[in-house]
Amino acid sequence: MITGLPIVSGLFKDFSSSATISKRAFPPMMIHVATYSIRTFGDPVLRQVTSDVDNIDESVLRLVEDMIETMNEAPGVGLAATQVGVQKRLFVYDIGDGPSVVLNGRITESSGEWIYEEGCLSVPGLYWPITRPNHVLLEGIDLNGNEIKLEASELLGRVFQHEIDHLDGVLLIERLDPDQHKQAMKILRSQALTPDQETARRRLSGRG
Ligand SMILES: [Zn+2]
Repeated sequence: MITGLPIVSGLFKDFSSSATISKRAFPPMMIHVATYSIRTFGDPVLRQVTSDVDNIDESVLRLVEDMIETMNEAPGVGLAATQVGVQKRLFVYDIGDGPSVVLNGRITESSGEWIYEEGCLSVPGLYWPITRPNHVLLEGIDLNGNEIKLEASELLGRVFQHEIDHLDGVLLIERLDPDQHKQAMKILRSQALTPDQETARRRLSGRG
């Protein structure tokens, strides 16, 4: 049985964020956060494995803020650092309870099975029913460096698995069955960027 919206990650979100709306109410000079352009399929950075964050300094805090803003604007329910071209093991998420961040996260237990219509901000516009474990235990640290253990099922469990995959250089395409994978590659090849689109993308990504 496949459930309906909201669709997961890098995962799209179909509800609006009140935090984003209130931030936008300020004049532009009041906004200190910046947004990144989200890297899409074919960008080699999405295949790279991230390194743990050793030092939670100002630059990490800034990165987290900017990633939350980028996720809200997309909009998505999760965003991994690799999706904005940063090889640090951290991701942000918000399934409607407010934004959170997990640093150096790893899934240490999983069980059950759940099929869900999954999408990815790095593979825009495409969704597939994907089977993954339903329940997971995610271990990592928070922004204060404290150890955290988070148990999650269904949508949140799916977001955690999807984002941890990103941090290991794995895209949801690799979670498809052989037939789905074949069809997906056909579509993605036909969508390959034209030179004009590539120029536009490079110009936009200058913001990050
Ligand atoms: Zn994704």
